[in-house]
Amino acid sequence: MSDRAPRGARAGALDTARAELVAYGRRMAGEGLAFGTAGNLSVRVGDVVAITPSGMPYDMVAPEDVCIVDLDGAKRAGRGAVSSEWPMHRAVYATTDAAAVVHTHSPEVVALSTSCAELPAVHYAIVGLGGPVRVAGYTRFGSDRLAEQASAALAGRTAAILQNHGAVTYGTTLAEAYERAGLLEWLAGTYRRARQHGVPRILTTDELDDVRAEMRRLRYGGRVS
Ligand code: 13P
Ligand code: ZN
Repeated sequence: MSDRAPRGARAGALDTARAELVAYGRRMAGEGLAFGTAGNLSVRVGDVVAITPSGMPYDMVAPEDVCIVDLDGAKRAGRGAVSSEWPMHRAVYATTDAAAVVHTHSPEVVALSTSCAELPAVHYAIVGLGGPVRVAGYTRFGSDRLAEQASAALAGRTAAILQNHGAVTYGTTLAEAYERAGLLEWLAGTYRRARQHGVPRILTTDELDDVRAEMRRLRYGGRVS
C-alpha cells in the first residue's frame, strides 16, 4: 500500500486535506478539545475521505499517516490505521452535506453528556449549530450503533453530543467543523456556569427564529441553519 495520496486530478486537494488534518489535529489537542490520542477528524474530497490515523498522538502525525478511504471503507493510502470512528464519519457524510467532520472529547461537553438529554439554547449563538444540541445515548466507541445514533441526533443540526464520550460536528470546510466543535464546548461551559447562578432562562423557539432571520439579513457567520 502506498503511503501517498492517489495521484491524479484530486491529488493536490488530498495533499491539502492531509496537511490541514495534521494542523487541526494538533490544534484540537493543544486547545484541550481532545486528550492524548482521543478524537479524530476527516475531510471529504469527491468520493474519498482523508481521515486521521487511529491511536496516534497528534504531534506525531505526518501527512503520510493520514488515511485515504473510499466511501465504502476501503483504504487506498496512508501509513496509519484508519480511525476506529470511520463508521461515524461515513454516516455523517452519507446523511448530510458535510465536507469535513470533527470528533472531540472536549471536557465541558463530556461532563454535560453524563446528565443531560440536550444542551439547551442558553445563548443565541447556538443557532450556529442548528439549535439545541441533542445527546445521543451511550453506545461503544467505533460501533455501527454509535454511527446510527450520532447521525440521528444530527438531524437539522451541525453538532451532536455523544453520551459519556464526546461530540461530533461537521461543516462545509474543516475550519467550519472545527469552529463548531469549539462553539459547542463554549456553550456547554456557559450552560454549566449559568446553572451555578440558578435556573437559567432558555431562549424560546420564536427568539431563535428571530436570531436566525437577523443573521440571514446581515449574512452573519456563513450558513445559519
Ligand atoms: P481513534 O484513535 O481510533 O481515531 O479513536 C479515538 C476516539 O475518539 C474513539 O472514539
Ligand atoms: Zn471518541
